[in-house]
Amino acid sequence: MGLLLKIFIPLLGAALAFYFYSAPPGFSEEMLRGKRVIVTGASSGIGEQMAYHLARMETHLLLTARTEAKLQKVVERCLELGAASARYISGSMEDPSFPEVVVREAENTWGGLDMLILNHIGQSDFNYFDGNVGQIRRIMETNFLSYVAMTTSALSMLKESEGSIVVVSSMAGKTGSPFAASYSATKFALDGFFSSLRHEFVMDKVNVSITLCILGYINTESAVQAVSHVIRDKPAPKEECALEIVKAGALRQRELHYPPWVGAVLLLRDIAPEFLDSTIRSNYRVENLKRT
Ligand code: NAP
Repeated sequence: MGLLLKIFIPLLGAALAFYFYSAPPGFSEEMLRGKRVIVTGASSGIGEQMAYHLARMETHLLLTARTEAKLQKVVERCLELGAASARYISGSMEDPSFPEVVVREAENTWGGLDMLILNHIGQSDFNYFDGNVGQIRRIMETNFLSYVAMTTSALSMLKESEGSIVVVSSMAGKTGSPFAASYSATKFALDGFFSSLRHEFVMDKVNVSITLCILGYINTESAVQAVSHVIRDKPAPKEECALEIVKAGALRQRELHYPPWVGAVLLLRDIAPEFLDSTIRSNYRVENLKRT
């Protein structure tokens, strides 16, 4: 059975990777040159890497996160890399008024917006669910409601530019993930909201694309620190991940699966859910998890 799993999943992954990855043709950096882009959670990790790719593509950037000192450095680097312009606004998405403040900053600076990349996440425990409902409320505000609020505030500008919304989610937003119940709930909520909104845009002839990014384990500092002692998989590179997200948004793709084997996992979820569940559990070294 173990051997079967080891062969079956990579084969299925390779077939799906070929299907999904060869599907969207025609990305070129010119598609983004001069575009006005907001990136949230841009002070570190995948958001920071997206900012650098977008800077090389000569976009106008508005970056946001909580830590001003880190944002300052990222903005400086973006300008060195060739961004048409780069600025930041710091604040916490835990504050329900902050999403609108960020969007207003873009409106005052540029008078419009082409791409909204929603990427930030608040801190949540990686452990058995301990019954802390307050923590779920907080993380819902940061990981889900602020995404909805930013989209709502930015929608009139995005309609005018026929722009794009990019929502960074996770495998944990498509299938249950042990030790991440609250995080997973916020990511499932994103899928429900944005996939419904996409239908409405099509029915209402609103030409704003929504790209949902379903990511596996990526080697950002925070993810590696939180889970590497428990998860057996090797993480994928954040630089490549960030580039694939930017490309998927520019191509107005419906969903991005990165790394490509994520597509195989999603297929298994529907055709063999019990099998997928046991495969997921076998990827965890539970003995290394300290209960809090
Ligand atoms: P990260 O390195 O921890 O970056 C998170 C970003 O969000 C930082 O810029 C952080 O900056 C900001 N942030 C945190 N709390 C915030 C708050 N309350 N208000 C505003 N900004 C806040 O995370 P990452 O690994 O790059 O993940 C980026 C995205 O990829 C997330 O949506 C995550 O769910 C998704 N993803 C990641 C992985 C992975 O393995 N890395 C896997 C699947 C999906 P400050 O601390 O300065 O605020």
